[in-house]
Amino acid sequence: MHADLVKLLALQSKDTAVADVERRLQELDAEVGVLDRAIQRARDALDAARRAAADGVRRRDELEAKVESYRVLQDRRVQRLETVRNPKEASTLMAELELARSVMVKEENDWVRSAEAVTGLEARVSEEEARVAAADLEQAPERARLAERRRVLEEEREAAAREREASAEQIDKPLRTRYNRLRQSRAREVVVPLVGGHCSACHTSVPLNRRSQIRSGAIVDGCEGCGAILYPAETAGSS
Ligand SMILES: [Zn+2]
Repeated sequence: MHADLVKLLALQSKDTAVADVERRLQELDAEVGVLDRAIQRARDALDAARRAAADGVRRRDELEAKVESYRVLQDRRVQRLETVRNPKEASTLMAELELARSVMVKEENDWVRSAEAVTGLEARVSEEEARVAAADLEQAPERARLAERRRVLEEEREAAAREREASAEQIDKPLRTRYNRLRQSRAREVVVPLVGGHCSACHTSVPLNRRSQIRSGAIVDGCEGCGAILYPAETAGSS
């Protein structure tokens, strides 16, 4: 086999190793993502509970202000009633007082209900806070395990990348560039065996004279169909 093909195959195996570590890192990211989404759901529920509680507090405070303003008006009516001498005016004022009192009773009831609702909504916030804290606690060992795995994998990736670069440096620049370009554009392997006179990647037939040159190690040649770099396979029927 051509010496460059030996080097290219070595480089390709190093690239496969790098890709394998990267695939495992992606799987790890996916596992972390599952944990993140679970926490996010708990935090979203907490945010919703906090918004509901804030709305409840606003409504309660509005009702409280309303009841207070009614009380001020009512106090004024009571004071006026004490100074009124005209019986007709007094009876009109009495009717007004009575009406205002029934309105106030209704508003006060609303206020009591809104205050009770706030108690319930605040309890809900505490529950959701506890849920977030419990989820954090529950995930902690798994997250620690994943972080340790990431640390190991990142070391592996660095080592694999260093080996890959060392391997690449053994290859002349033009051939290395050609390999790198092919690697970026191809989903499959760049250096593939010539099997039975065909490119094993796309099954395009390779002309006879080039087959023998590839086998003798005279040339480094690419498939006319898919551009893969061909190496002679040591398999039966490859003639
Ligand atoms: Zn091909």
